[in-house]
Amino acid sequence: MIITGQASTLDRLLSKAADGGRLSVDEALHLAADASLAALGLAADVRRNQLHPGRRVSYIVERNINYTNVCNAYCRFCAFYRAPGRTDGYTLSKEELATKMDETVAAGGIQILLQGGLNPELGIDYYEELFRWLKQHYPAVNLHALSADEILHICDVSSLSIEESLSRLIAAGMGSLPGAGAEILVDHVRKRIARLKSGADKWLAVHRTAHRLGIPSTCTMMFGVEETWHDRLLHLEMLRQLQDETGGFTAFITWPYQQGELKLSSGNTSAAEYLRVQALARLFLDNIPHLQSSWVTQGPSVGQIALSFGADDFGSVMFEENVVSAAGTTFRMNSDFIELQIRHAGYTPWRRNVRYQVER
Ligand code: SF4
Repeated sequence: MIITGQASTLDRLLSKAADGGRLSVDEALHLAADASLAALGLAADVRRNQLHPGRRVSYIVERNINYTNVCNAYCRFCAFYRAPGRTDGYTLSKEELATKMDETVAAGGIQILLQGGLNPELGIDYYEELFRWLKQHYPAVNLHALSADEILHICDVSSLSIEESLSRLIAAGMGSLPGAGAEILVDHVRKRIARLKSGADKWLAVHRTAHRLGIPSTCTMMFGVEETWHDRLLHLEMLRQLQDETGGFTAFITWPYQQGELKLSSGNTSAAEYLRVQALARLFLDNIPHLQSSWVTQGPSVGQIALSFGADDFGSVMFEENVVSAAGTTFRMNSDFIELQIRHAGYTPWRRNVRYQVER
């Protein structure tokens, strides 16, 4: 077989990345443009198996609690929020929270993913009281709580620095920081889809501070909002640089924008594009240990295929999910079904906590 210069360059880059070598943005752009989906998947799978030998796939039992849908950020891609003053806006009461928490604990849940809108009525006092109450009544449940923009919102409402806000929230019981709200960390993209949200530097500053204060976080990328591959790779480069600096990211999760009934036009959000993005992320993010497959947006079958495209984690059992489902996606699974999906894909399931330690 004659190997052309183009093919040999692609092969060299794929084999470098599969061995854990660092790709530059330009090299990754070359792969994004010219490597086949199958070749990217194969290389990502080699890298995934190097990092996580033994064909094991983790998942966590947690509940997503969206404590308020009131928000004044008005992101163009969001079907979940209600503007302040709307009659269908809500903030969950303690009774409603207790019901959800009791159900979570009864089902073996060890974590809640607590996220909501940027509610102008809620400042640091509300969150400190809420976290203390949750830890008092449910001490074993980790509070994987608040996006970077919710932290920044608390800073604004209560006139605090990022460090002051996070220190007080951690003292009240916050255990880790979700990577939500990153979307695409390139300001011209963020300005177009989420005009009132923080810039990339602020999102990174919140995560940097969280890592310095000793709590882990995850990182994410929502693609398909008319960004370019260059934008996606700049986003991944920012995450990789912060991870070099702090080592505080446990996992990366990517998913395509769910268009639903919203007017924001989307780019290519097909399953093939999702697998391509995830495989390239596995190859590019050489320093982030875990990748979660996004079955919540892709469904169980694509979620299984994603395990051969760089993912080593199947995310979480979802008791409820309001943000993605508000845009029309409603995939749910219990732990038995998750384990079945993992086994049918040829892997052994194991339950983890937020730090990817064995939970049973
Ligand atoms: S994505 Fe978050 S910040 Fe943006 S409008 Fe929706 S709830 Fe508010």
